[in-house]
Amino acid sequence: MAHDHGRTERLDLADATVREWDAVVLDVDDDGLVLDRSAFYPGGGGQPPDHGVVLWGGVETRIVGTRRGDDIRLICAEGDPVPPMGTAVRGAIEDARRSALMRTHSGLHLLSGVVFREYGCLVTGGNMEPLEARMDFALPDVPEGFKERVAQACAEEIAADRAIEVKNLPRDEAFAIPDIIRTATNLLPPDLEIVRIVDIVGLDTQADGGTHVASTRQIGRMQIVKVESKGKGFRRLRIRLSD
Ligand SMILES: [Zn+2]
Repeated sequence: MAHDHGRTERLDLADATVREWDAVVLDVDDDGLVLDRSAFYPGGGGQPPDHGVVLWGGVETRIVGTRRGDDIRLICAEGDPVPPMGTAVRGAIEDARRSALMRTHSGLHLLSGVVFREYGCLVTGGNMEPLEARMDFALPDVPEGFKERVAQACAEEIAADRAIEVKNLPRDEAFAIPDIIRTATNLLPPDLEIVRIVDIVGLDTQADGGTHVASTRQIGRMQIVKVESKGKGFRRLRIRLSD
């Protein structure tokens, strides 16, 4: 199932706007707890895991991270009481952090779409924190006016308010999209039957498991802070978002 991970139904994959939901504790151990349904993004694809709380009978357990194994295990804050197996709980995501990460993640996709369109260069890596991120590109020389042109094009794409759509496609259909071949063919497990696609309509299409805002205007103001050299042939762009 595209929206399951171990025993947990992934509410975040189906709807990035979910912030609160009901769940039952399926398992507890020293590593943390497993819920039957969860909107906690477990980390991956450069996007760090969500923080939040699990509420049960007037008790609050802070969730500070995730451990991915056979199950998604939510890591509880040291010293917080942990709900026993079978407890009905209410999960809640820390909205400010998640919403900032959604803007940042979408901002990186927009950046990679712009740099590919303008300069034809591919992404080699990336990472993000809320409202700050970096992305590495295979770019041997920095063309004249590179930073300004990228910043300008990004601002235009944000102002254009392009829709950002998430869909699940059968493998063959997903790999028929040229952008997917460019970014993901070698990264996806061969037995993956359904590929989750994040599409900034008209700009950038990628296989992606992250959480995104619904349109480019929601990214907000995006600044290209720095273009650094990362060894022969590679450049690192640092971005920062603000309102
Ligand atoms: Zn992504």
